[in-house]
Amino acid sequence: MKKTVITAVLATAVAMSATAQNPFLQKRFGTPYEIPPFEKLTMDNYREGMLKGIEQERQEILDIINNPEAPTFENVIVALDECGEILSKTSRVWSTLNSSNSNDELQALAREMSPLTSELSNFVNMNADLFAKVKAVYDKKDQLGLNLEQMSLLEKTYRSFVKSGALLSASDKDRLAKINLELSRLQLEFSQNLLHDTNNTYVTVDDVKQLAGLPQANIDQAAELAAKIGQKGKYSFNMQRPSCNPVLQYASNRELRKKVYLMYNDRCNHGDQYDNKEIARQIIALRLERARIMGAKDYAEIQLDTKMAENEENVYALLDEIWGPAVAKAKEEIADIKAMMKKDRVKGEPQRWDYMYYLDKAKRAKFNVDESEISEYLEINNVQQGIFYVANKLYGLSFNERTEDYPQYEPTAKSWDVIDKDGNVIAIFYSDYFPRDGKGAGAWCGGFRGQSYDGAARVQPIVTNVCNMTLPSADKPALQTLDNVETMFHEFGHALHSFFRNVHYSGTSGVERDFVELPSQINEHWAFEPEVLKVYAKHYKTGEIIPDELVEKIEASSKYGQGFATVELVAAALVDMDLHTLTSVPEDLDVMAFQNEKMNARGIPAQILPRYSVTNFSHSIGGGYSAGYYSYIWSEVLDCDAFQAFAETGDIFNQQVAEKFRKFVLTPGGIRPGKDMYQDFRGRQPSVDGLLANRGLSRE
Ligand SMILES: [Zn+2]
Repeated sequence: MKKTVITAVLATAVAMSATAQNPFLQKRFGTPYEIPPFEKLTMDNYREGMLKGIEQERQEILDIINNPEAPTFENVIVALDECGEILSKTSRVWSTLNSSNSNDELQALAREMSPLTSELSNFVNMNADLFAKVKAVYDKKDQLGLNLEQMSLLEKTYRSFVKSGALLSASDKDRLAKINLELSRLQLEFSQNLLHDTNNTYVTVDDVKQLAGLPQANIDQAAELAAKIGQKGKYSFNMQRPSCNPVLQYASNRELRKKVYLMYNDRCNHGDQYDNKEIARQIIALRLERARIMGAKDYAEIQLDTKMAENEENVYALLDEIWGPAVAKAKEEIADIKAMMKKDRVKGEPQRWDYMYYLDKAKRAKFNVDESEISEYLEINNVQQGIFYVANKLYGLSFNERTEDYPQYEPTAKSWDVIDKDGNVIAIFYSDYFPRDGKGAGAWCGGFRGQSYDGAARVQPIVTNVCNMTLPSADKPALQTLDNVETMFHEFGHALHSFFRNVHYSGTSGVERDFVELPSQINEHWAFEPEVLKVYAKHYKTGEIIPDELVEKIEASSKYGQGFATVELVAAALVDMDLHTLTSVPEDLDVMAFQNEKMNARGIPAQILPRYSVTNFSHSIGGGYSAGYYSYIWSEVLDCDAFQAFAETGDIFNQQVAEKFRKFVLTPGGIRPGKDMYQDFRGRQPSVDGLLANRGLSRE
């Protein structure tokens, strides 16, 4: 019956647009490096590309099943890996733009396509005939003479079928299909509600006097935002971090901080049509039901069995090891905050909305650091040059700007050839750093095409870094905070991982989720090394290189505030695990009450909340990082330990270590398990000591 739906929609779509002109349906775009011809793409092209792509993939699957020849690695496993070219080509472009340049039409298309693509993945993943062919190949895997990558593809393919329920009874399969469909609908709804509350919740003040303490650049942006939403002459903040964080950090107006803080943390928790509490509960319940059908005790179990962490005991052990030292450190910070408040003659206990503000003040008092003074050395283009410098020193890469000659999807983005030391272009890079309407909050690395092979030729990936950095103001260029600089290095670390990847199958491209942040987080370590700062941190007015005294201050103060940062991060990871290790989900479970109860039981300081509340915890509830938010910490254990490999040689650009890191970590994609890749790089498994030292925490 569902098949009819697809056909009916397809017929309308085809009638509406001229197939011949749809770039997604041509063999090639005919642009440099096959970059999507953004300016030519229409909504009809996307819709038709998706629908035709779904049809094509379905047909290709049927062809594999109906192939009369005996099943082989090539005619089943490779054929399956290569299925759906039109669909992946279209959906990569469309979903990348739906995150960075979303609009009502793209979102409507997302809602329209979500059931169709889930239906397709069910058709593939739960297809008994297809699985029989896969299993036939898998059962004789040791006699096939496969190389390491081929064996990895075969095992991953087989496991993903088993994970999707291929070994289940017909009725369980049926229920699983319904759950999957329902989950993708709910997750989408969750994300769209969050996007709404992030972009359309405003705190507006009438008088600039209420903004005392806020840097002028932020005041200017608030004035601009107010004008844009029809409040000319006033000052508005939305719930994107670049807009609201400076208020929490710099505004002396306590009431304003409170308002912004509560609005931010309460996104999608207002009991209105955008409330995510019940949606989150349903998602958790369905995930548990799914796990149970698969024979697991809870959802975390099935999520973790293909991760480097392996099981929930290992995850909790790591989080617990860090939690105690982090809370102890946060308590020291809170004592400092109390002292600062006393000086300010503010009575009573510090509140959550006091934390960032007074922590910043305490830090300035302790280390005499003025972040806005430092920011004057952190102009965004200089930072980008610093990022490129590190990539050049470590791996010999160079970057050639091609913004003028390559297709652009956004006027403020830039594009670059990524050139290896032998002169070959190994990737195309788009840097898209500024916030705008339709861009999701946060920062991420994505892309319009992954690395692949076309015959013997390596196809270069087209990689994007999308961020929400501080915009230029009327009188200043785009000066960044230390945090923003760290984020830029982080996302570029992911980009490096994409640039170097060299795999032959799309099925061997992805790494374990708790390994995926290693390349990004290790890249942050170079951001504030004195040697690197001296290269890119130049005063925006005078061009003066950052003075030693400031570099020392950055170094001395970098560990301050890590109690707060670590607690909010580990807290979020714990809530994510607690939700996904539930073995029953009551009908009346209030996810926010659950979060508070769990946090109180663990003795979280009253001044700190988890980094995200459940109603706006898109990593955990919205999708990708469910029972997986711990990965950030897990990866940090790896990145601190891995950076030590450079540091302990006395040369942070040590070429032998860089060569190993590139070879064993950045290049093989998901061909080998993370544990093995790490072992090859470091000669041993990582220890948590590097992380504790890096964050200035000590064991109790
Ligand atoms: Zn990341």
